[in-house]
Amino acid sequence: MEGPTAAREGPERVCLDMVDLCRRALAAAGVEAREVAAAGVGLPGPVDTRRGTTLQTPNIPGLEGFPVASFLREQLGVPVFVENDANLAALGEWALGAGRGARHVLYVTVSTGIGGGIVLDGRVYSGAHGSAGEVGHILAVPGGRPCGCGRRGCLEAHASGTAIGQIATEALAAGEPSRLREMADPVTGRVTAAQVAAAAREGDPLATRIWDQAMRHIGWALGDLANILDPERIVLGGGVARAGEQMLGPVRAAAAERVLPSQAGRLDIRLWALGGDAGALGAAVHAALATGQAEGIGGR
Ligand SMILES: [Zn+2]
Repeated sequence: MEGPTAAREGPERVCLDMVDLCRRALAAAGVEAREVAAAGVGLPGPVDTRRGTTLQTPNIPGLEGFPVASFLREQLGVPVFVENDANLAALGEWALGAGRGARHVLYVTVSTGIGGGIVLDGRVYSGAHGSAGEVGHILAVPGGRPCGCGRRGCLEAHASGTAIGQIATEALAAGEPSRLREMADPVTGRVTAAQVAAAAREGDPLATRIWDQAMRHIGWALGDLANILDPERIVLGGGVARAGEQMLGPVRAAAAERVLPSQAGRLDIRLWALGGDAGALGAAVHAALATGQAEGIGGR
């Protein structure tokens, strides 16, 4: 079930909408609220799981520091556990998706931005301050394109869906020949990552160059991360992952260039299995783990 986020109306409104969505989902499933053991909630930004709040949310003003978990607990009458949304997607894929059966999983989502979540020994690793897994802000190109975080050259600024579309849009504006020109928005001249992927599949040289470069950046970053984390599996998700093999092939090849000989041949990179449901399913798994009701979860 999905609903809009009334971000401008403040955190209380956003949380009340979540309560409404929960009640409608329960009604649709024919489940009474008292039958529910716990609820899991994904929040953007670094999350303080003990205080049940998020610490930084540029897209939902006022949510920072708002006691989401206790507010929802009061409204729903069940224990509520919060966690970062990318971490929950990682947990979802680990428990029920492409990470099943693995102990250590790195999940990387490539869509509007690039995010990540780390599951170690079947538990989310969120770091000392709740901000681990910020894969998008690894340095990809020294002095490169400006990033939303205020720095330059981040992976996200060179390889996110937004970046792929933007780089192609700029190349078209600079007059480079490409069939992307016919696909571009007639008013703004903008193209999307999906259009770049489509043109690359048709052999367009500009689209191929931009797509391949972005996939190389992602693969190199994953290779470096594999050297640090030695994950059993890496799962790729997000809108850009809808390109399937067109993403997986070049990312695997670039990652293989970066891993140390000790890791060579062990790298296991796969596409997500849960799609856009990974976060919501991960939230349920998180709540089940937090209340000790997760027997058998994770395929082990
Ligand atoms: Zn950045």
